[in-house]
Amino acid sequence: MARIFAIANQKGGVGKTTTSVNLAAALAATGQRVLLIDLDPQGNATMGSGIDKRSLVKSVYHVLVGLATLTEARAPAPEGKYDVLPANRDLAGAEIELVELEHRETRLKRELSAHDHEYDFVLIDCPPSLSLLTLNGLCAANGVIIPMQCEYFALEGLSDLVNTIKKVHANLNRDLKIIGLLRVMFDPRNTLGQQVSAQLEAHFGDKVFRTIVPRNIRLAEAPSHGMPGVVFDRAAKGSQAYMAFAEEMIERMKTL
Ligand code: ATP
Ligand code: MG
Repeated sequence: MARIFAIANQKGGVGKTTTSVNLAAALAATGQRVLLIDLDPQGNATMGSGIDKRSLVKSVYHVLVGLATLTEARAPAPEGKYDVLPANRDLAGAEIELVELEHRETRLKRELSAHDHEYDFVLIDCPPSLSLLTLNGLCAANGVIIPMQCEYFALEGLSDLVNTIKKVHANLNRDLKIIGLLRVMFDPRNTLGQQVSAQLEAHFGDKVFRTIVPRNIRLAEAPSHGMPGVVFDRAAKGSQAYMAFAEEMIERMKTL
C-alpha cells in the first residue's frame, strides 16, 4: 500500500515544492516507486520535474473534475524516475467547479485508491492556501509533511495549519496525522533561526525531522533546468540533505 503524504503549509514560498520534487526524486533514486501530484495551479512541481505545464493535454484538473483518469493524465518525469500528475492554470478553475460536485473534498482520494498498489510513496504538493484543493490533498493523505523556515512568523501560521489538520482528521479523514516538520532554507549563522529551530524541537519533539535542509543556491537553480536538485547536482549540500531526508522518511515509515 502506498504511503500518501501531503506537503503543506498555507504560507507561500516556504519550500513546499522544492521539498516535494526533491523528496520524490530522492526516494526514486533509492528504488522507491513514487508518484508526485502537483496540486497547485502555479504548476511549479510540474515544471521542476521537467514537464512543460503549457503543453499538457490532461492534468490533475481533469482528474479532479472527472474528465480524465490518473492513468490518462500522469507522465514520467524525464529526469527523475518518478511519475508526475501535472498541473497548470486550468486547476485554478477546479476550485470553483468542485464546489458543485459530489464528494468535492475526496475526489483525489477516490481516484488514487485504484492505484494504491502501483506506488510506494505518493507525494502531494499543495498550494499556499487552505483551499478546497489543499483539502483534497489532506483527505487523500495518510500524513502531512510541513516544510518551514525558521523565522519569527513561521510559528504563527503553524497553528492555523495544525487546526485545519485537526478538523480534517475529525470530520473527513481519520487516517491523517502530522508526520513531521521539516526545517528548510536553514542558515546556521542566523541566531534567530537557531532560536526558532530550538523552539520547534521543544514544542514538537520528535515531530521535528532530524534532517535540516540548508539554504543552497543549487536547489533554487535546478528548476530552471527542469530537474530536481538531487538530479541536477547531487553533490550539493541541499541535495545531500534531501537524500538524507528520504532515508529518514523510509526509516520513519517502519515505526508508523
Ligand atoms: P509556493 O507557496 O509559492 O508554492 P513553495 O512553498 O512551494 O512556494 P518553493 O517554490 O519550494 O516554495 O520555494 C520558494 C523559493 O525558494 C524558490 O525560488 C525556491 O527555489 C527557493 N528555495 C527553496 N528551498 C531552498 C533552499 N533550501 N535553498 C535555497 N533556495 C530555496
Ligand atoms: Mg509551491
